Amino acid sequence: MENVIIIGTGPAGYTAAIYSARADLSPLILTGSQPGGQLTTTTDVENFPGFPEGIMGPELMVKMQQQAERFGARVENGVEVTDVIKNDDGSFTVKAKQVFGTETMEWQSKTVIIASGASARYLGLPGEMDLVKSGAGLTACATCDGAFYRDVPVCVIGGGDSAAEEATFLTKFASKVYLIHRREELRASKIMAQRALDNPKIEPVWNSQVVEYLLDDNGRIRGVKLENTVDGSHSELELEGVFMAIGHTPNSGFLSDELVDKDESGYVLQVPGRTATKTPGLYSAGDISDTVYRQGITAAGQGCAAALEAEHYLAGLEG
Ligand code: NAP
Repeated sequence: MENVIIIGTGPAGYTAAIYSARADLSPLILTGSQPGGQLTTTTDVENFPGFPEGIMGPELMVKMQQQAERFGARVENGVEVTDVIKNDDGSFTVKAKQVFGTETMEWQSKTVIIASGASARYLGLPGEMDLVKSGAGLTACATCDGAFYRDVPVCVIGGGDSAAEEATFLTKFASKVYLIHRREELRASKIMAQRALDNPKIEPVWNSQVVEYLLDDNGRIRGVKLENTVDGSHSELELEGVFMAIGHTPNSGFLSDELVDKDESGYVLQVPGRTATKTPGLYSAGDISDTVYRQGITAAGQGCAAALEAEHYLAGLEG
């Protein structure tokens, strides 16, 4: 029987692992299909405290893993959790299968921390994820990457609050921000939409869908090809950065409604002010429950809180 199983290896999962390992709980971490989480899809991380020169996203995640393993955390690579079941004795059964294979496995644990994150949605165009991973001009995080686009034109794709907010934020750096939306009315709340549309640096591009990323000789984005969603005509925009803001999908599909409450988008709901879910011994941390901040450092903070709550719960079991 494990003390703590942590599902997910982003900043939330690894911070939970560091804290529970240092509490001598020997946590087991299940990596999922994207070891290291969303930060492994970015290049320079300049806003994580403690790295004044910045650090590469994948390197930061390797360091977190090493820190957790140093204190006795165990990492099970390449397994995707398929089910979490609450047993009659209050413990949990965690079922998983190989990401690249068919083998299945299961563990028993007294507590579980869900840190399986959320995935930014992309358009699904060919080569898209390669552009993200190589830092070639496509990203889903303006807060993380906006400062790399000083005095050059960029675009934001989407029409919700995230798109409006990110477009406004990017005007601090970029020479121009095209806000590309597939309809001619933003979904964003009135105040955020108005703030974006009133900004002289933001130019809305209505009824338009990006259908191709145009690359320079070095494979970096130099523009986008647009299709008009009304008349099907094509045009091109020259720009150097594409910021995707078409929503996120929380990785919560393996969790039953019996175990956790979720909002209408699938984010796991926590007991207010805590990382606890409605099931005793089951905690959540990071983007799986965060629709507001979505930062590495806020996820790490929640991972710490979840580990402390799990430790407290385990101490209560021992009586
Ligand atoms: P969202 O509200 O779901 O908006 C997604 C946008 O992307 C929509 O405009 C949608 O177009 C567009 N879109 C979706 N799929 C697309 C595709 N395949 N191609 C092109 N466009 C596509 O997502 P969000 O903006 O990330 O917001 C998520 C939640 O967080 C919302 O509840 C929001 O209010 C909240 N939020 C709040 C704040 C804040 O208050 N400060 C900031 C950010 C987010 P359609 O409009 O045509 O569907």
